[in-house]
Amino acid sequence: MNTIGCQMNVYDSEQIAKGLKPLHYEITASLEKADLIIVNTCAIREKAEQKVFSFLGRLAGLKRKRPDLIIGVGGCVAQQEGAKILERLPHLDLVFGTHAINRLPAAVQTIVSKKCRIVDIQMADRIKEPDFVANGCEAKHVTRFVTIMQGCDNYCTYCVVPYVRGRESSRRPENIIREIRRLVESGVREVTLLGQNVNSYGKKENLCTFVELLRRINDIDALLRIRFTTSHPKDLSQELILAFNDLHKLCRHIHLPIQSGSNRILKMMNRKYTREIYLEKIDKLRNICPRIAITTDIIVGFPGETRTDFKETLELMKTVEFDALFAFQYSDRPNAAAVRLPGKISKEEKKERLQQVLDLQDYFTTRKNKALKGSIQTVLVEGLSKKQNRVNHSDKSQRLQWSGRTSTNKIVNFFKNDDENASDEDMMGRLVNVKILKTFSHSLWGKTDSKEPTDVGLRGEKSYVT
Ligand code: SF4
Repeated sequence: MNTIGCQMNVYDSEQIAKGLKPLHYEITASLEKADLIIVNTCAIREKAEQKVFSFLGRLAGLKRKRPDLIIGVGGCVAQQEGAKILERLPHLDLVFGTHAINRLPAAVQTIVSKKCRIVDIQMADRIKEPDFVANGCEAKHVTRFVTIMQGCDNYCTYCVVPYVRGRESSRRPENIIREIRRLVESGVREVTLLGQNVNSYGKKENLCTFVELLRRINDIDALLRIRFTTSHPKDLSQELILAFNDLHKLCRHIHLPIQSGSNRILKMMNRKYTREIYLEKIDKLRNICPRIAITTDIIVGFPGETRTDFKETLELMKTVEFDALFAFQYSDRPNAAAVRLPGKISKEEKKERLQQVLDLQDYFTTRKNKALKGSIQTVLVEGLSKKQNRVNHSDKSQRLQWSGRTSTNKIVNFFKNDDENASDEDMMGRLVNVKILKTFSHSLWGKTDSKEPTDVGLRGEKSYVT
């Protein structure tokens, strides 16, 4: 299974793997060993789509060597391109869209028995409850994604989501709670709730509000942390802002995509808020929760973006001082309204603007991380650090390096101090206090410490300590 794209695709890939298990398919370590290859794709940017086609093209050699190998492509590119993919890539057997995951096992069985090719890109009006959640997760995981809604009704002019994921539709709260309870029973301690715009959760269907859903999840025993993404600034409610103070399991981090600092460009993007409204919401968040981490998305080079518009984006970045951001060069996407807008920006100019955004953000991220040196942070242990995973950790005399995140979503790699009580076997899923001894641009490093967390601004963190 190859997953390209966002967290929603990661969640979908997990559902795909669970759905194929009864057919005796298991994840393999290499492509060469696979009887079935599924590529779960992303169409949000031109670059991601190019990556999909380049990977699929490379599979032709494998198919020539092993004609029985089944190759399927799912996700947003599959939904967007449909049967055209089979015409372009004759070695593929299956194209399944974003609403066809539940029907995938049946499609694979048909291909095996009838040696045919299948295209299934039929969309539904309502989100289909995943059929495959019943067993929680089999491998030991500390953090998991849970999709609470799919699709989007906002039609930002640069975005394909409403076309490839469909109209907005929310899952029933009782099904979400049941799924999270099962995950928690299997050892999960943190869930990230996924939706294109979680703030409008349940509105269309007249279900509970997003904050009511958060309250119910906050009551689940043994769950330690809740995260969510993404929140549309126009729908960020006062109720949700207050929840950062009220709900002790809700992590002190919000991803709030601004996209541009220019009101003119925001209007052309159909974002339905102004920079003033955005900044007002940031102030409210920081008043309620002073140390909340705020991250964002920025698109540079939207059609018609002048140097003055771009400067306004840089100015907004300086005003907010984001903890981190994802920045992208605008690219035309099929069906998106901005394709028809005049004033396309040259590649060179977009590249230069992107670099300016990244350099400025690097300054803020590094500075914010440096300020944490010497502090004690509560970290949820997610496993061994990446570096540790690369070395052989069967050597019992070797000191293990662990990894986890703070409530504010900062990665912390650390060693256990000599006075740390927890055994290596008990570390996963624990909340530990770590003294930060070194800071880097994208992570922090330290050692466990028996002292209480320094940062009293992060209300609720102390109560996590086990
Ligand atoms: S809110 Fe806008 S950018 Fe986000 S998924 Fe919907 S249309 Fe796309």
